[in-house]
Amino acid sequence: MKNHIALITLLTVSILSACSAQITQPEASEVWEPEPRVVEGVSSTNHVPSDAIILLGKQGLSEWKSRKTDGEAEWNFDNGVMTVNAGTGDIKTKKQFGSVQLHMEWRAPQIVEGEGQGRGNSGIFFMERYEVQILDSYQNRTYSNGQAGAIYKQYMPLVNAMNPTNEWQTYDIIFEAPVFNDDGVKVRSAYLTVLHNGVLIQNHREVLGTTEYIGFPQNKAHDEASLMIQDHGNPVSFRNIWVRKL
Ligand code: MG
Repeated sequence: MKNHIALITLLTVSILSACSAQITQPEASEVWEPEPRVVEGVSSTNHVPSDAIILLGKQGLSEWKSRKTDGEAEWNFDNGVMTVNAGTGDIKTKKQFGSVQLHMEWRAPQIVEGEGQGRGNSGIFFMERYEVQILDSYQNRTYSNGQAGAIYKQYMPLVNAMNPTNEWQTYDIIFEAPVFNDDGVKVRSAYLTVLHNGVLIQNHREVLGTTEYIGFPQNKAHDEASLMIQDHGNPVSFRNIWVRKL
């Protein structure tokens, strides 16, 4: 028995001294594999990372389709700028996505009409369900959890970072997809982080479910889905939309 205790004590001391010997070496806590792959483009003038999927550039609306008809997107396109063709309905990407980093630039209609939710309303929906509001919120009061940058009816933006109506706005958004188990039960919520014109307005917000106009968030299981942009009847314009899968 005594021998056993002595052996265990000796082993413990050896392990502890081995451990403490290791952590005196700076190399012991260096991680070399895997090596993050190189992404280029981030310092170029258009700031499109080399691994991004371009959804709206100079190529027209080829990445988009009509939500209503599943056919061609019928929005207007001119020299890299896409504009809502009111009444033709929402458009969505042909590709399906889960978690993404998204960059988009948008501009409210240049003829200022309407007020509140009626002025420059659109929206970017992740997985066709979770809306970050697009609205001309420059000197245009509406309910706070429905203004530009709101996670619609769930979280107001931390601040109003709107540029004036005649200027372009940028959204840089990190969306983490929700996870559902085999029974269709949500086991991890979606999360959204949003920068508006470079200003943090949503900081890793837990998305409570679908962003409903009326009623409460829903949490039915779903697969990857399109990114969708809303036709709310106002001619909002867009340019330079790209995503990186996460
Ligand atoms: Mg909207």
